[in-house]
Amino acid sequence: MPAANGPNASEGVLDYRKAVEVLKEYERPDGLSIDELMDSKVRGGLTYNDFLLLPGYIGFPASAVNLESPVTKKITLKTPLVSSPMDTVTEHEMAIHMALQGGLGVIHHNCSPEAQADMVRKVKRYENGFILDPVVIKRETTVGEAIALKEKWGFGGFPVTETGKLGSKLLGIVTNRDIQFEDDLSKPVSEVMVTDLITAPAGVTLLEANKILAESKKGKLPIVDKEGNLVSMISRSDLTKNLDFPLASKTPDSKQLICAAAIGTRPEDKDRLAKLVNAGLDIVVLDSSQGNSIYQIEMIKWIKQEYPNLEVIGGNVVTREQAAALIAAGVDGLRIGMGSGSACITQEVMAVGRPQATAVHSVSKFAAKFGVPCIADGGIQNVGHIVKGLALGASTVMMGGLLAGTTESPGTSFVSREGKLVKAYRGMGSIDAMQDKRAASGGKDSQKSNAGTARYFSEGDSVLVAQGVSGAVAHRGSVSKFVPYLAAGLKHSMQDCGMTSLKELHECVANGTVRFELRTASAQLEGGVNMESYEKKLFA
Ligand code: GDP
Ligand code: GDP
Ligand code: GDP
Ligand code: 5GP
Repeated sequence: MPAANGPNASEGVLDYRKAVEVLKEYERPDGLSIDELMDSKVRGGLTYNDFLLLPGYIGFPASAVNLESPVTKKITLKTPLVSSPMDTVTEHEMAIHMALQGGLGVIHHNCSPEAQADMVRKVKRYENGFILDPVVIKRETTVGEAIALKEKWGFGGFPVTETGKLGSKLLGIVTNRDIQFEDDLSKPVSEVMVTDLITAPAGVTLLEANKILAESKKGKLPIVDKEGNLVSMISRSDLTKNLDFPLASKTPDSKQLICAAAIGTRPEDKDRLAKLVNAGLDIVVLDSSQGNSIYQIEMIKWIKQEYPNLEVIGGNVVTREQAAALIAAGVDGLRIGMGSGSACITQEVMAVGRPQATAVHSVSKFAAKFGVPCIADGGIQNVGHIVKGLALGASTVMMGGLLAGTTESPGTSFVSREGKLVKAYRGMGSIDAMQDKRAASGGKDSQKSNAGTARYFSEGDSVLVAQGVSGAVAHRGSVSKFVPYLAAGLKHSMQDCGMTSLKELHECVANGTVRFELRTASAQLEGGVNMESYEKKLFA
């Protein structure tokens, strides 16, 4: 019981002992256990707004709270936040910045397989330990071609080798400053490259190589074998990235960002997946609003056999029975939610779905018996909802609408009719998204093209039945500020509950130490602001 951790200053001891004695006279701790709260036979399904967590005992600063949590059986995130595979939410920019903040972005599939694979490649290339497949040029490459390569890839440091390929003799290096002010674009790079190179021998550890690079005061360190052939390279900017983003979700060996992408469960999605895996994909999310289907079950089995190292997240599910089918097929993670998304009308139109709090509790409790982590997907409108999703047993939460307004989502912001700065957001089952496979928002980096998502319709359908709407959400600034705000809010909430980690939260909810209270309609009003006028500023 939290009170047992209470004060022990000598003058308070008597009262404290008495307080503990009197507490023992109560049969049960104050509030409700999770099972009492979620007794749906009595209360029906609950949503996040229908309950609160009761406070616990604070014996530590909020900064001490550990938010580490698994997103799949093998992959753990330092920040339990995931961006949704929607074409107004997650392309490579979002995926990179979610991963840098310790979360994860799931790249949408409302685009051609090639465009999606390109996005995966951009995420995987963004940060590296050893760059094992650096872009290499040859002597004859012109300055103009080198500039074009820089524009294509976003980096401008190119080793020059005999054949223009990796594994061939290193002749020199061309970097930004060698070509930046060169007017003669037809000049071969052999005339501008630097040739007295500092290199490191093949077999050097990353630690040693980083040290040599730091001491060299250069931007790149080529790694060469005994014959002087280029085998890999490291980049100074990766050392900076590693320092600037200590929480980043990276694979331990390559130091590359972890990348997830969504696919459907049609035969052609197998070809799509092959391209994504080739681009370096770590996690595939099978994107279906009702995941308990023969198509998904067969797809999971096929993927686990074909790509044993790829983590597979199945879904969406909202019942134990659905979860059981996907767990039996071999999923490494589950995505929970049907009809709770902010742009979603499934419950209204299909009359199928489940209130999200009940769904998360029911599925997570079952999946925990098999060590399968769950993502609470949809309906997250504020920090409190994140805490509640996690307290109900989810390991991470997935957000669409909340992140669609950030700078890193696809498209640009615009001013709404009401004069507010907004960004487009639409359900993947909206008529807009289903019809307009090329997508509307299309900012300069937008990778969308045809061959889109089939999450909400079948090819043969002559009538498209919408399960989502299309509109706009408030502009929220950059993920690099917004996600740290969400994480800091989550830490403060965990502190209020007396929980130092998400693992402890899950254990203490399960064993009845963390208590809950139902919220009546008037309690919900009481919890809101009751003022004539006010400004709602969420963080500074
Ligand atoms: P960290 O230092 O806490 O990040 O611990 P790690 O085990 O992740 O890193 C071990 C070594 O790898 C350290 O020398 C890090 O500086 C280095 N390292 C980590 N991430 C990167 C990266 O993205 N690129 C490079 N070149 N080195 C990295
Ligand atoms: P540059 O100096 O213009 O090459 O670029 P930066 O040093 O600013 O950044 C290079 C970033 O791109 C680093 O994080 C690299 O790990 C990454 N990167 C990925 N693949 C490559 C590659 O083939 N060549 C180079 N130069 N960088 C790469
Ligand atoms: P930049 O800041 O992106 O242009 O890249 P660097 O800091 O890597 O390079 C600065 C200058 O040093 C350029 O002229 C490079 O060609 C040159 N340079 C890069 N690596 C080496 C090296 O290993 N040895 C020497 N001597 N010069 C290098
Ligand atoms: P949000 O964070 O906006 O509340 O919810 C995002 C989630 O809504 C997505 O991850 C996805 O599961 C779900 N979703 C996205 N588009 C649609 C749609 O058109 N219809 C339905 N039913 N759900 C959607």
